[in-house]
Parts: sequence; C-alpha cells; structure tokens
Amino acid sequence: MDGKLMTVYRAFRFKVAPVHQKQELFQYFAYLVQLASQQLLERLWTEDWLDKVARSMKKTYKVINEAQVSLQVANQAIYFPSRIRRGISERVGRILRAQHTQKECFYDCLQAVEQIGLESNLNTLVKKVARTIQLVNGQYYRYTLIRQTLGLLRRLNFKYGLDVWTLRYTDVVQPAIKQFVFPYGPDDGQALRYTCTGYIINYQMKLPVVSVPITRRDWQWLAGTIIIPVRLQKKIQEAVDIQPQRPLLKYQRLKGGIVVPVLQFPWKFPENPLIKRNTKIKAQRVLCVDLGVRNLATLVVCEAGYQISPPTFIKLLKSRFRHIERLYNHVAGIQRKLSYYPVHCVGQGRRREERIRVYNKLDRLRQELAHAVSNEIVTTAWRTGCTMILLEDLRSFNPPKGKKNVSRRLNNWLRGRISDLLTYKCKQVGLQLLKVNPWQTSTICPRCGQRGKKIKDPTSHIEKKTGRFFSCTHCGFQADRDYIATLNVYRAAQINRRQQETLYTTKPVPYKGTGTPPDRPGGDPVALKPTLGLAVTGGCLFKMSTMKGTVPSMASSTTRDPLLK
Ligand SMILES: [Zn+2]
Repeated sequence: MDGKLMTVYRAFRFKVAPVHQKQELFQYFAYLVQLASQQLLERLWTEDWLDKVARSMKKTYKVINEAQVSLQVANQAIYFPSRIRRGISERVGRILRAQHTQKECFYDCLQAVEQIGLESNLNTLVKKVARTIQLVNGQYYRYTLIRQTLGLLRRLNFKYGLDVWTLRYTDVVQPAIKQFVFPYGPDDGQALRYTCTGYIINYQMKLPVVSVPITRRDWQWLAGTIIIPVRLQKKIQEAVDIQPQRPLLKYQRLKGGIVVPVLQFPWKFPENPLIKRNTKIKAQRVLCVDLGVRNLATLVVCEAGYQISPPTFIKLLKSRFRHIERLYNHVAGIQRKLSYYPVHCVGQGRRREERIRVYNKLDRLRQELAHAVSNEIVTTAWRTGCTMILLEDLRSFNPPKGKKNVSRRLNNWLRGRISDLLTYKCKQVGLQLLKVNPWQTSTICPRCGQRGKKIKDPTSHIEKKTGRFFSCTHCGFQADRDYIATLNVYRAAQINRRQQETLYTTKPVPYKGTGTPPDRPGGDPVALKPTLGLAVTGGCLFKMSTMKGTVPSMASSTTRDPLLK
C-alpha cells in the first residue's frame, strides 16, 4: 500500500435545540441570514463577479469580503458578528461559483444557436448544439444543462419575442436562494464552538436573542448537546478522527411537514483499501449492471471473460409503482389547474402548497427507491465476491423521446440517481466502479458478436423494435433484452480501442455457470451490512427474482448456446 491515505467525507445530521422556546432564535437567525444572503447575491449578480469568484482559487469568503454583507430591517442596520458575515459571503460565493458553468453554457449555446437557429425540435436541437459546442470549443456540458438553457432561449424568443442574441446572462436569470443553509466552514470558533467526547457533542452557537439585533449584546451563545445515536456510533468509530469537521446548519423537513434545524457534521473516513486501481478487468470478478426501464436493474457476475452466474433482475413491485404513479398524476393535475387560472386567483396559494406537499412525498419515495436499488447492487457485488462494478455511462444517454409515461419518467430519473449513489457507495465499501460506453449494447449478440433482432416473445419470429426479447439469427441465442445489454456491458469494458475493436469484434462472453451465484469465500454478508452504512432493504420495495421461473425461455436458451459445448 502506498503511504498516502485516501479519505472520504461522510456527513450525518442531528436535530438541534429540541426545547421549544429556543426554536424562535433559530427562526430569527435563519430569517436574517437568508435575507442578507439574498441581498448580497443580488448586489453581486454581475458577470464580473461570476468570473471573479470562479477564476479565483481561494476560498470564496476570501474573494467576497465579509464587509460587503449588510442588512437593513425597519430602517435599522442589523448587527452581524463578523464570522456570521463570513458564513454568508461563503454561501453566496458558492452559489456564484456554481452559476459560472451555467453562464458559460449560456454563451456557448448562444454561439451555437446563431448558426443552427432555434426552430427545430428541442431534442434534435439539444443534440446538434452539444455537438457544435464540442467541435468549436471542445467544451463538454451535461445534456440536461443544454436542454435547460435552450428551453430558456426558446421561451424568451418565441413567447416574449426578445432578440436573444444581444442578451446577457445576468439579465435573463434572476438568482434566488430557496433553501436556508449556513456553512460554518470559514468560522474559527467565534460563531460555533463544539467538542465531541464519547459520542456526545457539546456545542455553543451564537444566535440573535431578538428579531432585530442591532448591537453586539443582541447576540448570545446558546448551548446544547447532541447525543450520537448508537447506530451511528459504530460508524464514527471507524473515522480517522473522532472530532468532526465544521458543520452546516440547515433546515430539515420531517415526514409530517414539520421543519427542524439540523447540524450536519462531516467526519473523515479512510477510503477502503480494497479498491484496486488500474487493474485489468479480466483479472477480476466483476458485477455487470444494466439499468433499464422494465427491469430497474439487471445483474450478472462475470470473471475471466466468462459469465459465471445467471442474471438477477430487480423489479419494482406493481403496487409500489401504482402508488408512485398516482403521486405523479396528482402533481400533474395540480400543475394543470395552476396553469389555467391567473396567479392571484382564489385558491391558488392553497394549490401551490398542495403541490409542494405532494411533490415532497413523491420525491421521498423516489429517493428511497434509488437507495434500495443501489444498496442491493452493492450488496450483491459484495456477496458474490466481486471487486468491481461495471455500469453504463449515462452521460451519453439521451432519454427516448415520444412516450412520456410515468414509468419512463420515473426510471429515467432513477437511472441517474442510482448511478450517482453507486459512485459513492462503491467508495465506502471498497469496490471499483467503471462506467462504460453503452453504445449498441442491446442490439448485438453477446455470444457471437453478430447483430440480432428484437422480438415480442420467444415464440414469435417477427422483428419488433419495442420487443422485450432478443434473438440472434446467427447462433440462435435468445434472451431478455436487458440481460443481453448486461452481458454486452462486460464486453464493452474489454474493448481495445487501440486495436480499433468495436462491440462487433471484441470477444464474446460464453456462459460457464454453476446455476447459482458464487458466494464470497469466508465473508458473511449479514455481518457486513451495518458497517457498510446501508439500509437493510426490505422486501416491500421491490422484488428480486433470479432467472428461475420468471423468464422460462432463458434456461433453455443457455443450452442452445453453441459456445457452451
Ligand atoms: Zn449470436
């Protein structure tokens, strides 16, 4: 092992000030900070400042001087302690820094659109613009960002008839700070003091004791204690240092809709030394993952060029899906009603509240689902003794146009989220994650490398573009489409681009399985779970089904596989 210890941060949230009288102190604080941040952001909302903050390598609170923070409430200048002002400039600076990419994208899009025009279909336009930008500036942006920017430009042009080519980014986009977040990062003990001893965090926080603090004496220290729950104590034991890093103060919305202030403390953890960097894929046991629409995920274990386990499918339970579908439709229904009537029409406020409430519920369910699926993928990888997970790279993924049904929208969202979650969960567990180009993974036969066709079910022989089944006319291999894609993910990872290999020419994956996934030697997956920091995935969220019984033709398809003999 090399001497440099790799570390990862993991943050945990703790409720603060459970005493009710003290809640209002937080409210004063949050209100004042939010107001001052918003005003500072509006003052600094110029292209000069966006560039200045983005170009500087310093911490943002050093670029934006804390003296710039000022606030007037009821004709009185509010007094902020200097470290609080620092936190505010840090927060505003981070927003400006994040906005810089969007600004760059805006101008690059404008430049590209000048040649292409805004008229064509949005999906086509996004692709064209992305290609043009890449050719001209060599710059790469996320598709969603380009889509957003082009949507904005089109609205401005078509709806308001503006001459978009002369617009400036800062005139078009208005900044708004929606959520209250206060970073204690730049503080040095003058706004928050804390010590962590024996799983108890004692803290003191400087808060205003009146709603309009105008002198130093209007700010006082509020003391409190956080007892770290037992389930987190075990995790924190593994941290490099028991003392956490400086926290963020946030508001967290609980399930019933109550909002409570929380302190989010990050701890430094050693990165799992199991991660082997830059080792050949062939030498490892890998878990290949395909994230699809019908099957949320399809998993296959491969080793040394062979497929060594039958596929595992992760599906969403029908009842669970119906629940989410209803919520989607509920939000859409409210949205429709909101768009019919003018803004200040009677009942609009109530509807808007309802939309937020339903949307939060929907979002919670989606998040839960994404966590459950990614946890299952990671535990499967661990249980089967894999050291690496192969996943398709979603950057090049463009959601299919046309049908916008709920399952498609949900699963497109889930794919992105699962991909993000896997990135950090793999790090925690010590698995390597490799993303591969998904080009044509569901059209080529993984057993022989020839182009196959999609059919409706194993008995039909007519090609159908939307068919769930794949059939190879060359070698007769038949299987579920997602299963094919998963095997091809393994092949795609092994493509040697220097020898100009493609998915057609790279080696096929023969099956060499025992019928059941191999178990990790000596490892007990149940004992592992709590240290992984993974929620135990209940059976209620989704059902896991291995090949047996669910896709009957696949068992027979493996016997028809010529490479097996
Ligand atoms: Zn074939």
